[in-house]
Amino acid sequence: MSTTITKLELPANIVIRDLALKIEKSPIDLIKKLMSNGVMATINQSVDFDTAAIVVGEYGFEAVLEASEDSTKEEAGEVPLWRQMIAGENVSLLKARPPVVTILGHVDHGKTSLLDAIRQTEVAAGEAGGITQHIGAYQVEKKGRLITFLDTPGHAAFTQMRARGAQGADIVVLVVAADDGVMPQTREAIAHAKAARVPLLVALNKVDKANANPDRVKQQLAELELVPDEWGGNTMVVAVSAKQNKGIDDLLEGILLVADSNGIKANPGGKVIGTVIEAELDKAKGVMATLLVQNGTLEAGDIVVAGTSYGKLRAITDHKGKPIKKAGPSTPVAVMGLSGMPSAGDIFQVVKSEKEARSIVAERTDAAKTLSQTKKKVSLEDLFANVQAGEAKGLNLIIKADVQGSLDPIVNELNKLGEGEIGLHILHAETGNIGNNDVMLASASKAIIIGFNVQADVDGRRLAEKEGVDIRLYEIIYRMTEDIEKALNGMLEPKLVERVLGRAQVLVAFAASKFGKVAGCKVTEGELRRGARVRLYRGADMVYEGDLSSLRHEKEDVKEIRQGFECGVGFKSFNDIEPGDQLVCYIVE
Ligand code: GDP
Repeated sequence: MSTTITKLELPANIVIRDLALKIEKSPIDLIKKLMSNGVMATINQSVDFDTAAIVVGEYGFEAVLEASEDSTKEEAGEVPLWRQMIAGENVSLLKARPPVVTILGHVDHGKTSLLDAIRQTEVAAGEAGGITQHIGAYQVEKKGRLITFLDTPGHAAFTQMRARGAQGADIVVLVVAADDGVMPQTREAIAHAKAARVPLLVALNKVDKANANPDRVKQQLAELELVPDEWGGNTMVVAVSAKQNKGIDDLLEGILLVADSNGIKANPGGKVIGTVIEAELDKAKGVMATLLVQNGTLEAGDIVVAGTSYGKLRAITDHKGKPIKKAGPSTPVAVMGLSGMPSAGDIFQVVKSEKEARSIVAERTDAAKTLSQTKKKVSLEDLFANVQAGEAKGLNLIIKADVQGSLDPIVNELNKLGEGEIGLHILHAETGNIGNNDVMLASASKAIIIGFNVQADVDGRRLAEKEGVDIRLYEIIYRMTEDIEKALNGMLEPKLVERVLGRAQVLVAFAASKFGKVAGCKVTEGELRRGARVRLYRGADMVYEGDLSSLRHEKEDVKEIRQGFECGVGFKSFNDIEPGDQLVCYIVE
């Protein structure tokens, strides 16, 4: 063994090829050394620091762990959007502004009730000035400070806004019913808040119920890395009863604490910019829009561009319907005077003249046209190029699997891969098919969806096509890790893509002399084509994958058959067909 010891800095994970270069040895030699240490790895695979340290030790190197940027990697990710909005402001002019809060949580856990109860606090405090209008947001006062609530609860609104590049909320209140606990949409909501880097506190609702079990819920939250503060964690959990109006004050105080620790600021005298909360067309008044001011102060008479609509604001009213002249940061206001309908989530800004407004709108309309023609997909194939071009920092993933038992090892494997140079961020991992919500989250976070032994719902698939979201389905874990590893190393060639031609449902299975069993099917979508590839699913399980070798329509051999028609399908040497099975026909191109 070598006698001179040289120090060698190594990262937490290193690809064999790079390691070989570093120590100036042949990769083959290195792979052999690894094998003799019981580690099987190919030239493109990476090994962790400990493994690398042992092997380089045999060449006379003493490995030391490189000062890692890992700890900063998280922070280097997405910055909350409101911070981007004030990026150009003079820091000395920034002032604390009211936090803007959105309420997320599982259906029936009490989001609407809680929003109502909070709204009532103002009425109860005798401060109600006029009838509260529904404008999509309202403000309440607590200890002389304002809090703004967006009152369309649920993550669809939250994610849709984010998919458009906007973000109204600074803080998420996650409602969890104490009698029901953490449910699928609770988990989804956590994923959405995390992906948007919006801080979260928990409203543990329905504590008045006899079967409420707050400790169980706290335990569940802790398991999701939301450790309650009373247990030494960082997540504030406030017990409330929206129905009995209990704990609402504590919740509001909690929100203010979270706001304070997050330094939510704006420059009231700065550039006027914000987000469209909602818009509707009133027959008499024209376009009515709710704008949330996020920086600067909006005034009646200002000329505003919102998305591709613009106009001089004729009137500004607050959430009580009271006309106001000015609206500072975090104030939601209803405005009239826009030429067209903006969309919820459009960013608005104040400009100097109608001429400037028109030219911005014209530019945006053109840009929108080219964008829709060249809408860039975040695909696994493009990942490496995107990272190198500085367009992506890492790979965001949403994982869906058939059972928890397969989800855990997948997440583990992926976490290992993500320790390399290009980070992997798992935004959400859950069992179940791929649906609309997953696709919206992927679109908003520029993520790829990985499905393991699951399918994508029809709606989810359509939305994915529209939003340009890459859904990749796998049946074997190592196939998936292999693909991702290749993508991270820039080795995944964009070559073969599957294209689904159609789907069919098996109605009956009958015996036919030539093929053994034949599936009597109805084509539910697209077409089936003889010679194409097929997968047969029973529930979420894939029971067969192979060629579609025979296709008949009313005893005639046909080449293809369209949606709505019935047909007989035979698979080569496969007989285990059952009514109710789903057939997916695809080609690889
Ligand atoms: P959302 O779907 O999350 O908006 O839930 P809702 O606000 O519509 O509430 C669902 C149901 O739970 C309604 O029947 C409410 O009356 C009830 N509910 C909401 N909050 C409470 C609470 O604090 N205690 C009890 N007992 N019931 C509640």
